[in-house]
Amino acid sequence: MRDALAPDTEYEVIRSETSVDIDGFRKGEPTGEIECCCCGRSAMNIDEIPHRKDCNQRWAKTDYWRDRFLEQPD
Ligand SMILES: [Zn+2]
Repeated sequence: MRDALAPDTEYEVIRSETSVDIDGFRKGEPTGEIECCCCGRSAMNIDEIPHRKDCNQRWAKTDYWRDRFLEQPD
């Protein structure tokens, strides 16, 4: 998984801040979500993080995502 991250970007694994009764995760347990350390947005997949328009890491995607994006018309 580490290889999927661009080397010059900062992301953080989100850990549950509530009990297992609230969100199904024990407190402190990773939820599987990844948060962008630049704009604070998060998603289950690093390529699907809805970065803010002014986020420095907005275009820091994996090669896989970039390839798909560039193939899409418009
Ligand atoms: Zn971001």
